[in-house]
Amino acid sequence: SEALTRAESLIRTIPDYPEPGVMFRDITPLLADASALRTVIHAMIAPFEGSFDVVAGVEARGFLLAGAVAMEAGVGLVPVRKAGKLPLPAASVTYALEYGTATIEAHDDIADGTRVLLVDDVLATGGTLVAAHELVAALGGVVVGTAVLMELAALGGREIVGDVHTVFTA
Ligand code: IMP
Repeated sequence: SEALTRAESLIRTIPDYPEPGVMFRDITPLLADASALRTVIHAMIAPFEGSFDVVAGVEARGFLLAGAVAMEAGVGLVPVRKAGKLPLPAASVTYALEYGTATIEAHDDIADGTRVLLVDDVLATGGTLVAAHELVAALGGVVVGTAVLMELAALGGREIVGDVHTVFTA
């Protein structure tokens, strides 16, 4: 649609950030635009309308989208945080990065069998979302879908994440 095309045009590409050779997709201009934000939130939710009980958003940019998705869908929100940020003991999953590892954590605020929609801003290699799947499963939740604003197709994340709904592809 015209609204989606306009929203996509508000994603900026910044070369060599955070390191040389990386083309960083910056969604802040899109977030700052009321119409674009509303358009992409609706597009992220559309395939999953009525099928989830809670949104799990991945720190940090995933939080921004997950909050809006949760309000629009009328469900709650569970933050998936980087290691060491939560005040109580939490479920934890460590995964490989290009150099080293990363850990994500979440409190067990998900009742067993809760239907969870995973939300993040960008799908790159897919490592983060695979780990988020594992984390939700460890808490007894059932991942019924994954919604991401933008997929960087060349990095092949879709191959390891599996079924993922992405609004934009670069
Ligand atoms: P992955 O685990 O390699 O798929 O990386 C995905 C994570 O890195 C997401 O949580 C994104 O927020 C972040 N990320 C990777 N590339 C970009 C980018 O170009 N723009 C914004 N975030 C990115």
